[in-house]
Amino acid sequence: MSDCVFCRIVGKQIPATVVQEDADTLAFMDIGQVNPGHVLVALKSHADNLFGLQDAQAAAVFRTVARVARAIRDAFAPQGLSVYQANGKAAGQTVFHFHVHLIPRHENDGMNLTWPVKNPAREKLEEYAAKIRQKLR
Ligand code: AMP
Ligand code: ZN
Repeated sequence: MSDCVFCRIVGKQIPATVVQEDADTLAFMDIGQVNPGHVLVALKSHADNLFGLQDAQAAAVFRTVARVARAIRDAFAPQGLSVYQANGKAAGQTVFHFHVHLIPRHENDGMNLTWPVKNPAREKLEEYAAKIRQKLR
């Protein structure tokens, strides 16, 4: 048996409350429920994080994300919805099987992400962008 909790969920070896399933993705209720209607969309095949996704898998995940987001909107009528996805411990990832959070949001719901902007000069933006462009393939 896999020691990955989401592989076990995908393999139906441990229970989950599923909302949507297709060939590549499984959407199920996050056990923690930051707000009611909090859903996780996981890739069925194991990838530790975003860096392990093939293009077709990334497309499949985001198709499910958009589809389930609309259903959450219609079911819970939240004031907003956050899409959250963590890669690596430093980013807050705790389950190392790729997944995306869909979190219905309300004013003052207590979910806070600190966003320490640096507002660098345009030259810095150009420098950062050039570094990334060099690595695109
Ligand atoms: P993170 O890796 O930080 O994106 O968060 C992992 C999420 O998985 C947390 O929000 C947990 O509540 C959720 N989680 C962990 N185990 C289970 C499980 N067995 N069923 C549903 N959700 C889970
Ligand atoms: Zn896994």
